[in-house]
Amino acid sequence: MTPLLEVEDLRVAYGKIEAVKGISFTVPAGQVVTLIGTNGAGKTTTLRTLSGLLTPRTGKITFDGHPLNGVPAHKIVERGLAHSPEGRRLFPRLTIAENLQLGAFLRKDTAGITRDIQRVYDLFPILGERRRQPSGTLSGGEQQMLAMGRALMSRPKLLMLDEPSMGLSPIMMQKIMDTIRELRTQGTTILLVEQNAQAALSLADEGHVMETGRIVLSGTGAHLLHDASVRKAYLGED
Ligand code: ATP
Repeated sequence: MTPLLEVEDLRVAYGKIEAVKGISFTVPAGQVVTLIGTNGAGKTTTLRTLSGLLTPRTGKITFDGHPLNGVPAHKIVERGLAHSPEGRRLFPRLTIAENLQLGAFLRKDTAGITRDIQRVYDLFPILGERRRQPSGTLSGGEQQMLAMGRALMSRPKLLMLDEPSMGLSPIMMQKIMDTIRELRTQGTTILLVEQNAQAALSLADEGHVMETGRIVLSGTGAHLLHDASVRKAYLGED
């Protein structure tokens, strides 16, 4: 089966600094694929390029059977690729409900939007309870839930999550990881960028380890979780 997303020899640079140096990977439909690696490895740059926010130097991106190169960011959302960015980027003065509405800005099916907002509240009941509060009053973990919920409001075929566990307590992180599992069970395809390798590999079907702009190791989540070099470099073992 052709994968939902196919990335071939992608190179991305900021001026003279090449941040992504020719990476290739696929995301099969229905799976969770993770990119792990330390700060500066090029993970965020990769997601921002897939979203159309950065232009690659070279490389081919194919999504759902069509090339994405040169397609503007809003059209990429329309085609079914949603991005929950690092640092969440919510509108703090708008309410939770308003932030969710904004995630559906390209849709016109009012009944469907209402149903999907309810689906987000079912996934994260705390958001439903606080729906009329400004999102700036939420805790870090709750804001992460809202960022994920907002990305889901575009009904994506592929959900890209950038560091959803960043800055969260272990309990909140567990909740976010459980939700990613739940979304996968519901059929959502996910590309997950994480610094928390343990959490990401525990739930991913496939993983790729990035180091200074390159993929240096790939395998199933379980395989990488037990790989001695991954355990040493990313899980703090001797
Ligand atoms: P992090 O977890 O810190 O976001 P990352 O793996 O996502 O790390 P990137 O943010 O993609 O890594 O950064 C890759 C490289 O590109 C780094 O060397 C970084 O310093 C550089 N870089 C990122 N953004 C810019 C920018 N706007 N201008 C110049 N260089 C940048």
